[in-house]
Amino acid sequence: MAAAGKARVVVVGGGVAGSLLAKTMERHADVVLLDPKEYLEIPWAELRSTVEPSFAERSLIYHKDYLTDATIVTSSAVDITKDAVLTADGQSLPYDYLVIATGHALTSPGSRDDRVKEFQRDNQKIESSDSVLIIGGGPTGVELAGEIAVDYPQKKVTLIHRGPRLLEFIGEKASRKSLDWLTSKKVDVLLQQSVDLGSLSDTEKVYKTSGGETITADCHFVCIGKPLSSSWLNDTILKESLDNKGRVMVEKDLRVKGYNNVFAIGDITDIPEIKQGYLAQKHALLVAKNLKLLIKGSPNTKLSTYNTGFPLALVSLGRNEGVAQFPYLTISGCLPGKIKSRDLFISKTRKQIGLNG
Ligand SMILES: Cc1cc2nc3c(=O)[nH]c(=O)nc-3n(C[C@H](O)[C@H](O)[C@H](O)COP(=O)(O)OP(=O)(O)OC[C@H]3O[C@@H](n4cnc5c(N)ncnc54)[C@H](O)[C@@H]3O)c2cc1C
Repeated sequence: MAAAGKARVVVVGGGVAGSLLAKTMERHADVVLLDPKEYLEIPWAELRSTVEPSFAERSLIYHKDYLTDATIVTSSAVDITKDAVLTADGQSLPYDYLVIATGHALTSPGSRDDRVKEFQRDNQKIESSDSVLIIGGGPTGVELAGEIAVDYPQKKVTLIHRGPRLLEFIGEKASRKSLDWLTSKKVDVLLQQSVDLGSLSDTEKVYKTSGGETITADCHFVCIGKPLSSSWLNDTILKESLDNKGRVMVEKDLRVKGYNNVFAIGDITDIPEIKQGYLAQKHALLVAKNLKLLIKGSPNTKLSTYNTGFPLALVSLGRNEGVAQFPYLTISGCLPGKIKSRDLFISKTRKQIGLNG
């Protein structure tokens, strides 16, 4: 315990899960949030911000704007010992309880201003092009194609995807409905083909596909899935707690296998469910509850356990429509659009961390 008697909780990763956990715990412990970015990025707003950069004003949130009591450390975790987290800039952050929430590998700049500039640059790229090639038909590629098709209907959009169907992380019905919608908006979708990422340059205008086709486009966006941010754990005390896909193995109470005081939450975990932010938030709230129980102190405290979520997913298709996969139903059109596509849950996510919508 810290000198003042408060438990020290270090949260590694200030994404969707880590930010909510830090916010929920900051009054109950000495919380340190460690993140290489000075801001929380709401990932599902990224594509709207690409066509409308001012949208990022509400979806990129300085950690200091929602955390009042927690300490924010802007660096990356590079090692963990049994009682401290070591950072890339040489700090040692002691902990009584540790939460790993590093989700997906970092590709965004650390400065919020630089991230806004990236959106402005990408938007300029679209504005000054007549044709756009999108590489990757997962949620990022499909949502970007949808945003461009709706906001810039005069531009030619081609979406190329290596797999047999779009949105492979959800069911086939959702894939089909997305494909039909994109085709209806005159997006050319090429499946089971790829372009050689190694040969891409910013001045490229002609792209050869693996299927021997030629695509002409004024610019391109690479929207392939980001790997998990867990390679940094390979040389830490948690190395034995990674599965063969690099996910952190957790017990039902979300403690890392083999540890009493280390938890993992969000996309980094091996929980057998669809990887979604609303589930990462459920993990965060459950772990906050368990941390409070542990901090109160009875050694035999029974911790709450996590029940895996339904494979619920919403993919937006431009500003007004979308595809929704519910437990027994998949629908597309304006209803999913009403639920997600207009505000992209930005108000809801901001309110969850105590900010105005
Ligand atoms: C296009 C798209 C649309 C989506 N739409 C939805 C949706 O509608 N609804 C929904 O619920 N989910 C959606 N998702 C999924 C959702 O974004 C993820 O499930 C969610 O972001 C996972 O949260 P996380 O906190 O685990 O990881 P992340 O949000 O990836 O956060 C990880 C954090 O860890 C930090 N980090 C990484 N490495 C280190 C390190 N070594 N040290 C310290 N910090 C580190 C990063 O900087 C980052 O802040 C969507 C995803 C995409 C790509």
